[in-house]
Amino acid sequence: MGLKEIRERIRTAELAAGRLEGSTELIAVSKVQPLERVEAVLEEGHRVFGENRVQEAQGKWPDFRERFDGVELHLIGPLQTNKARAAFELFDVIHTLDRPKLATTFARLAEETGHCPPVFIQVNTGEEPQKAGILPSETDAFVTQVRDLGLPLRGLMCIPPVEEEPSLHFALLAKLAERNGLEGLSMGMSGDFERAVALGATHVRVGSAIFGERDYS
Ligand SMILES: *Cc1c(COP(=O)(O)O)cnc(C)c1O
Repeated sequence: MGLKEIRERIRTAELAAGRLEGSTELIAVSKVQPLERVEAVLEEGHRVFGENRVQEAQGKWPDFRERFDGVELHLIGPLQTNKARAAFELFDVIHTLDRPKLATTFARLAEETGHCPPVFIQVNTGEEPQKAGILPSETDAFVTQVRDLGLPLRGLMCIPPVEEEPSLHFALLAKLAERNGLEGLSMGMSGDFERAVALGATHVRVGSAIFGERDYS
């Protein structure tokens, strides 16, 4: 599909939903992709990227950042507490604050370094046991905790269960965000970003529809 088509489809979805054109940030998810594909998207002028793993991102982005100005890097994968410091150094936004222990680690690092990237709380909207995230019923309390720690909280993030209609989960996330006075909604991937835009996504995370399928072999 490619970058241009995805941008166009986002714009169409924004207008169809009566939203402001350009009000959705497109995060190009570059995990696992060959460097040439990522470089091609950088050459096209795109600057906002998402990565899942600290170590993988450390391997490619310092180099790209030297060659391309204005790169903004988003962490969208699970973060181990012992990698939080590295994540603080590398990422501009963290979408996967998913447990109290990580929040207190962020607060300690913020105090120590004088800096904290904007964060999203990951909500396990499908209440899937194997999936990271705060349960919907515990989200309000966790939002309060994160705010009390003084972290720059921007919004909520979710990854809907594969077998379910994602719109139900996007709507739930939007409701939780609204009642907590949060503007950011990180939701929507290659297969469902238009539905996410329709329900108010401020950040969509699109990988394979831009870069092609990932080859894990
Ligand atoms: C890999 C990934 C994406 C992108 O998935 P695609 O289906 O390739 O668009 C989005 N969000 C998260 C959290 C991911 O891990």
